[in-house]
Amino acid sequence: MSNKTLKKLLDERARLLTELAGLPRMLHGSWVERFSVCSRAGCRCHQGDRHGPRHYLVVREGGRQRQKYIPNAHVAAAQAGLAEYHRAREIIDRITQINLILMKDGVYED
Ligand SMILES: [Zn+2]
Repeated sequence: MSNKTLKKLLDERARLLTELAGLPRMLHGSWVERFSVCSRAGCRCHQGDRHGPRHYLVVREGGRQRQKYIPNAHVAAAQAGLAEYHRAREIIDRITQINLILMKDGVYED
């Protein structure tokens, strides 16, 4: 690999790592919306107009799946956090490619 190509890859990796540091609200999980029926007699929800949606993020904690309630006030921010997570995954995949190229050229551990 030429010095120019090497510098390009190292610069790209540095940019990606900086971008990764700018994704502090990332959330990793599955988004769930749920409508529910309450116990009040005669409530409209019993005629099909159910309450909700209430929002949850299904996350892994200690190897188990947990549903975390997301209050309405935080729904938009939490959805942005999910997008940040997806961008973080793209960044990590690209850094993996770069590091494998560097390894092939014997400069991964420099
Ligand atoms: Zn109800």
